[in-house]
Amino acid sequence: MPKVSQERPVTSPEAAAGTAGADLTCTGCDGGVLEPDQVRTAFWRGDELVVIEDVPALVCESCGERYFEDETAMKLDMLHGGKDAGHAPVRTLSVPVYSLAAPGAAAGKRGGK
Ligand SMILES: [Zn+2]
Repeated sequence: MPKVSQERPVTSPEAAAGTAGADLTCTGCDGGVLEPDQVRTAFWRGDELVVIEDVPALVCESCGERYFEDETAMKLDMLHGGKDAGHAPVRTLSVPVYSLAAPGAAAGKRGGK
């Protein structure tokens, strides 16, 4: 299965504790400051690329690592698993698809001749 990025939901007890205002630090780079932000993530669901926007997260200012609260991670898991979890798609994107297959193989697949 192709991966669109190395992004993966990460939860941490500190992030999930919901201690708003406290200075939370990143465990990925050992000390980066985490700031609340809204991020975009994407994953493959079968042959379908799914994009999730406006995902609340704590983002490390230093390394960019993202931390999701348990509830957010659960929603992402449900969407990943094929359940819309009460969410309807807000819009649909067309994305360009490239192939690094050898030219000969691609031509053969197209069956042009
Ligand atoms: Zn970090």
